[in-house]
Amino acid sequence: MSLLELADISAFYGPSQALFGVSLSLEEGEVLALMGRNGMGKTTTLRVISRLLAHRGGTAVFDGHDLARLPAYRAARLGIGLVPEGRRCFAPLSVRENLIAAARPGAWDLGRVVALFPRLGERMAQQAATLSGGEQQMLAIGRALMTNPRLLILDEATEGLAPVVRREIWEAVRRLRAETGLAIIVVDKSLKELASIADKAVIVEKGRTVWSGAFATLSPEARRQYLGL
Ligand code: ATP
Repeated sequence: MSLLELADISAFYGPSQALFGVSLSLEEGEVLALMGRNGMGKTTTLRVISRLLAHRGGTAVFDGHDLARLPAYRAARLGIGLVPEGRRCFAPLSVRENLIAAARPGAWDLGRVVALFPRLGERMAQQAATLSGGEQQMLAIGRALMTNPRLLILDEATEGLAPVVRREIWEAVRRLRAETGLAIIVVDKSLKELASIADKAVIVEKGRTVWSGAFATLSPEARRQYLGL
């Protein structure tokens, strides 16, 4: 059984349908790149997985649990850790408070997060609102790791960050892949970086899965047709 299995998911924002048939599956320890042009349904798919949005049709199963029945806080408890687009750290709280607020027992604790992102260690007492964009992204990833997830979801992993900080984030994701058994779903615009870490890819177009397979088999034609590259 896969760790995560979405089959033919449909989802709505009020009366407006955003997903029309998204399917994907992910095994323990795998990295999946979720791709597609702007507005095609990537974030909505991630919201369904993390239960910020309930799907209306299809099935979503995580570790044998039917996600349809679960509120977001239960999904987090099951081990689904979301790093949302735009980071969304708790701005008035310190770095330490942000990390501790999310903590659940397990291998990830403050020390391990700081080992992954030493810069957070230097800023433990600093208010999250005053961090740079890159530091906020490190904090958002650290906060998700503090929940000790089995699946880490990174929406727009490096959006809006300076190149040097992007490299740091990708390096951390590479370490997570190499050193932990975490499954990871990542959305990002850099095909080159995705190619260096992703085992598989799923492409969504107009709310439907239109391509899925091993990342290495993503052809130039598919890139052109679905990603405009
Ligand atoms: P982007 O890369 O631009 O974030 P995306 O692939 O993540 O794009 P989604 O954000 O999932 O796309 O959007 C899918 C569709 O759902 C789009 O048509 C979008 O306009 C619509 N949509 C997204 N969020 C909402 C919302 N809160 N209310 C209504 N419609 C929404």
